[in-house]
Amino acid sequence: MAAHLPPVAESQQGFPWAWWRAAAAQGVPGIAVGTALGGRGGDQAALWALAERLGRAAWPSGLAVAGLFEALVVHHYFGQADAPSDIRDALLSGEALAAVATSEPEIGANPKHLATRAERRGESWRLSGVKAPITHGLDASVFLVLAVTGEQSGQRQFSVFAVPRTAAGVTIEPLSGPMAGHARVTFAEVELASPALLGAEGRALEQFARPFRLREQGLLLAYALGLAGGLGDAIATTATVVPARLGEAMAPVAALGATLAHLARHPEADARFEAVLTGALGQLKAAQDLLLPQAREAGVAREPVAALQQMAFFLLRGQTRGHDRLGRSLINQTSTQGV
Ligand SMILES: Cc1cc2nc3c(=O)[nH]c(=O)nc-3n(C[C@H](O)[C@H](O)[C@H](O)COP(=O)(O)OP(=O)(O)OC[C@H]3O[C@@H](n4cnc5c(N)ncnc54)[C@H](O)[C@@H]3O)c2cc1C
Repeated sequence: MAAHLPPVAESQQGFPWAWWRAAAAQGVPGIAVGTALGGRGGDQAALWALAERLGRAAWPSGLAVAGLFEALVVHHYFGQADAPSDIRDALLSGEALAAVATSEPEIGANPKHLATRAERRGESWRLSGVKAPITHGLDASVFLVLAVTGEQSGQRQFSVFAVPRTAAGVTIEPLSGPMAGHARVTFAEVELASPALLGAEGRALEQFARPFRLREQGLLLAYALGLAGGLGDAIATTATVVPARLGEAMAPVAALGATLAHLARHPEADARFEAVLTGALGQLKAAQDLLLPQAREAGVAREPVAALQQMAFFLLRGQTRGHDRLGRSLINQTSTQGV
């Protein structure tokens, strides 16, 4: 695949549009979108399998994760026939980029505390709130904004809106510090016509936000699995390899592969998905704990080692509080077994 894509300079600032259009011409954003909708006809398993391959081939994580993430966004938010086809077509052609705007500053993504709201105004909606951090937010053509749109039996109802970056009331600011490259976006009384509403009104938590979070973690775990596999390959060819230690380190990697192969075809709506995903995070933790010291001792190239470390850090950061109780109890049991 890389042979057909233009190189991206190390000094590249912002999103590499020329590279992305070339990737789109090869069908990357549409990997997991049906052919009737203009995609390549694959599914989530195909996307995760590609993520594993790109990690194993030590693709630069910036490009690999950017491409995989966008393919997931198109699959998840625009993979249904009733999603707006003009936005889907622009995303599939690489002419547009979508960003997921769920989290809020000082709040995170916990739906209990999100404050962004959208209110009906006759035939249209008026949306206000602040979202950060937003990956690709500086370059995105459209923001997929999660907002409170009502309340039923004491429960807040959420909806997702596709908000163009050019809409009046949208302000995009770059973030500095550890989240540099990401954006903070303010939506000040943004007027939206009714087609901006994606999916069913009030059902966005079940339809979009919760499953997206699970699918994103699965996809990134698949990329981390590939990175770990590549490190194992590299260590195995060094003169200093200690076979027994390498075998011990690769056992959780193999278990992670088995877990993800199972999960890729399992519906996220099933509560067991989250529990198994938590088990997979435990397998990643065991793999990195055993693999990274060996990779460093063996003098393996710095980039794939750093990529695995960063990916594991990102995925494991919320592990202790992030998942359900059953899943947490699995973490320490699944380091070398499939679940
Ligand atoms: C590198 C990086 C890139 C990021 N990019 C984005 C981005 O593009 N868009 C964005 O919106 N945020 C983004 N975030 C923010 C991220 O999603 C989290 O909100 C933030 O990191 C806080 O994480 P947390 O684990 O502390 O808590 P949270 O993620 O806020 O989670 C706390 C609890 O809230 C619940 N929860 C969290 N997410 C959901 C959900 N989607 N649906 C239902 N329940 C949920 C869960 O119960 C969870 O245990 C990014 C963060 C990082 C580090």
